[in-house]
Amino acid sequence: MSQATLFYVANLLVYGGVDAIACLGLSMQFGVAGVSNFGFIVFQAAGAYTAAVLALPRDTANGGFQSYVGGLGLPFPLPWVGSALVGGLIAVPFAILVGRRLTGHVAAIGLLVTAVMANLLVTNFVPFLNGAAGVSVVPQPLQNQANPNGAPYQLGYGIAALLIALAAYLLCRRITESPYGRSLRAMRDNGPVADALGKNLLSLRTAMLVLGGALAGLSGGILVGFITLWSPAAWGYAETIVLFAAVIIGGLGNHKGAVLGALLVPLGFEEATRFIPSSFGTPGLIPALQWVAIGLLIVGFLWFRPQGVIPEPRRRILSRAVATAGGGGGAALLAARPARGAAPPPAGTATPGPGAPAPILATEAIVCSFDGVRAVDGVSIAVQRGGLTGLIGPNGAGKSTLLSILAGTLAPTEGRITYEGRDITDLPAYRRARQGLVRTFQLASEFKRLTVMENLLAAVPDQRGDSFRGAVRGRRYWRRDEALAVEEARGILADFGLEAEGDSYAGDLSGGQRRLVEIMRALMARPSLLLLDEPMAGVHPTLARRIGRRLQSLCAGGLTILLVEHELAFMDEFCDPVIVMAEGRVLDQGTMAALREKAAVVEAYLVG
Ligand code: ADP
Ligand code: MG
Repeated sequence: MSQATLFYVANLLVYGGVDAIACLGLSMQFGVAGVSNFGFIVFQAAGAYTAAVLALPRDTANGGFQSYVGGLGLPFPLPWVGSALVGGLIAVPFAILVGRRLTGHVAAIGLLVTAVMANLLVTNFVPFLNGAAGVSVVPQPLQNQANPNGAPYQLGYGIAALLIALAAYLLCRRITESPYGRSLRAMRDNGPVADALGKNLLSLRTAMLVLGGALAGLSGGILVGFITLWSPAAWGYAETIVLFAAVIIGGLGNHKGAVLGALLVPLGFEEATRFIPSSFGTPGLIPALQWVAIGLLIVGFLWFRPQGVIPEPRRRILSRAVATAGGGGGAALLAARPARGAAPPPAGTATPGPGAPAPILATEAIVCSFDGVRAVDGVSIAVQRGGLTGLIGPNGAGKSTLLSILAGTLAPTEGRITYEGRDITDLPAYRRARQGLVRTFQLASEFKRLTVMENLLAAVPDQRGDSFRGAVRGRRYWRRDEALAVEEARGILADFGLEAEGDSYAGDLSGGQRRLVEIMRALMARPSLLLLDEPMAGVHPTLARRIGRRLQSLCAGGLTILLVEHELAFMDEFCDPVIVMAEGRVLDQGTMAALREKAAVVEAYLVG
């Protein structure tokens, strides 16, 4: 190979490695966790600047031709370490400000605006990082030990970038394929539902912003050590779009896709136009064409192949488990496992007399207004332990709203809620779920791009692998927990007659089957109080009765259920007592037989 070719290859390796590392960070955030960080490039920039000012001498050196903060003159690899640390650290305020107050599209816009502001700030506040001119003559790693202009150094640099990219890939894969990664994907598919199943969304989002930030920062650090300069022009907000394009085109939720995208998109475009003579067209036409091409590619892919070149793999857990384990026994496991619940109530609160057992859940004058309309209007109910309590009422009576308030998905305008003798009115949904207060949703809420099996596993509490640390420790650390959970899920699947669908995407099932997934998933969360919102809608009556009997037997075993249902026959057979709501208020309560005698109840139904 000629010297020129070697340099060219080294250049490709460095840029490929750097882009791959950045795209992996974005792939974790956007592809796996569904966090749209349109300010992603800021993290790479922060890493690059950090590495630069850590490696550079004081800005009075070199005749003081540039001004910047820092200038610590630290030896390699400290600048790289610093770039990853700072990239991760600056994500924390982002996560708290943006993650707590804003979510979804609004958060994405917030991050985009932040990126624009950061760029303006650095451009115009010259003493900070030398303004628009940027920092230059950044010392290169080990430049006193080797000749940075020699081919061996350059190739070595490329290989180092590649090895770091490989390590980043293995780390991202390890996290994604763990129970923690499943929680991230569950959050991506449906945040409120993940919340209701005990996932701490703020913590998950923060972890991904920090991890992605650290990877982006490191990529910036590696890049600046190679090109020796860094300026605001290198990180316009539009650069984020290039990285998004890479991840979308490569394949969302698949790190191989992210790496492929990194090679195809940013690198590919630089290279594709390299051979167009620069005299072609008007000045600035070629870079402009790159942008047009990237835009067209994104649109084209979203239109024709939204899953990208390498789609997210389907995780066939069930068939693997059957192949390795054989025999059943999941149902027995389920029975053996205690429901999780709050610790016993503190002494002094709710001391029931022998004749009056304390209800597991009680509300006190709950009110919920939407723009002045009282959807729930002063509801006080008590749910007795161990029973199947029904909740009926015409459409718009406020049943779903009440359930959302009980589960913490919605905050009440007024009123208090007590669960297991404790006031939980201000407890966030995920913490209620962790105390055994679990709900299902009236509208389809399966995690669509998770298989049925994964939907069930996502709900299992206290899994060893369901934390960042547990995930990083690797499969051996959490394998046993996972195997038990898989067994348990198989038992439930068999109970509900959905064993054949275990490895299907939940989003591909029929409406009735999806209802069942939701009930099964809620059961996997080991509830002590289960709130079911029209669980049998669209389920065949024969199956609905079977499920009713199953729920009844679970109640005999200590579970408490509050269930909204339209089908009065179901109420007749399984629920006692039944609470009747209309226009946000509780109308009456009693056995179905007693309620049928009452004119007001019948009227509410006829009028509703
Ligand atoms: P049900 O489940 O008994 O059919 P809901 O609780 O869904 O009734 O709705 C009760 C009332 O609250 C309805 O009039 C509905 O339009 C209104 N409502 C529910 N959710 C919202 C919301 N997010 N914003 C505004 N109004 C709402
Ligand atoms: Mg409803």
